[in-house]
Amino acid sequence: MIITITIPFPRNWGQGEDTHAYLLKNDEVAILIDAGLDCEDNRKFIKSKMRELEVRNLEYILITHGHIDHFGLAGYLQEETGAEILVHELDGKFLKDYRNALNWFDENYEALIEGGYNSEELKLMKNKMLMTIEMLRMPKYYKTFKNLNNFKLESLHLPGHTAGSVGYVLRDVIFSGDVAIEGGTVVENLRMEINSIQKLKSFKYIFPAHRKTPLLKEDIENLEKHFINRLEELLRIIRNGMRLRDIIRNMYGEEGSFRDLLRLRNLISYLRFLEEEGYVMKRGQFWISIRDYFE
Ligand SMILES: [Zn+2]
Ligand SMILES: [Zn+2]
Repeated sequence: MIITITIPFPRNWGQGEDTHAYLLKNDEVAILIDAGLDCEDNRKFIKSKMRELEVRNLEYILITHGHIDHFGLAGYLQEETGAEILVHELDGKFLKDYRNALNWFDENYEALIEGGYNSEELKLMKNKMLMTIEMLRMPKYYKTFKNLNNFKLESLHLPGHTAGSVGYVLRDVIFSGDVAIEGGTVVENLRMEINSIQKLKSFKYIFPAHRKTPLLKEDIENLEKHFINRLEELLRIIRNGMRLRDIIRNMYGEEGSFRDLLRLRNLISYLRFLEEEGYVMKRGQFWISIRDYFE
C-alpha cells in the first residue's frame, strides 16, 4: 500500500513548497520515503499521521536526496521510532552538516566574481545563507544513516538535481524526489539531469516530492520541453554577450536574494552544458551564444 503524506511547508517561514512523503506499509513493516521540514507543527502533524495510519514499526526512512525539505523531519522520526535513515553516499554529507550545502558557493567563487558580483556582496549572501542554515532545526545528529548498497527496495541513482539523488523503485513505480517536478526543477548538473529524467519514462507512475503526483510519461516529456525552452531562452538572452549577474537580472528581474544562489547554480549548470555542446562560449566575463536554437 502506498500512502501519500503531504508535509506542509512551515507557515511562518515565508514562501515554500509542501513535501510529499510516501509511506509503504504492510502488516509487518513500514517504510517512509522522504520527510518534510522540521518544525513543531510538523512534528505534531507526522506524529498524529503515524497514529492515524497505525504505523507501529517504521523500519526505514529513505531519503531521495540531501535537501533539508526531504530529510529535516527524519531526525525527529528516528528519535521517536528508531527507524534507520538511508541516503546515497554522495548526499550523506548534507545530513552530517548542512553547511556543506554551501560548498558549491566556494567552488564557484571565482566564476561569481568574474560574473559581476563583488566580494562584499558575496560575503553578505553567504552569511545570509549560513544564518538561515543555522536557524534550521536540525537534530543533533542522525543516529544512523547508511549507504544504499544492500537495500531490498531497489534504488536507482538519478544524479542531476543533486549528485546523490536517487529514486526508489517498487515494480513499475518510482519515488523520484526532486528529479522531476511538474513545471521544472533546479539542477546542479543539467547533462546528468537530462539522462536521469530519460530513465523515469520506463515507469508507469512517477511519484515526485512536490506538486502534482503521480506524474506520467507525458509529464516527463513536458519537463524535457521545459528544459529545451529554458535553453533557448538563455541562448536568446545572451546573443550579444552578457555577464552572469545580468543574465540573472534578465531572467528573473530581482536580484540579491537568497534565491539568487539557487538560480546561479542552475544557470551555471545550463551554461556549462551549452558550452560543452558548442552553443555558447565565454569571452572574458561575457557568455555569448554562437547558435540560436537548441536542437
Ligand atoms: Zn531538492
Ligand atoms: Zn524538494
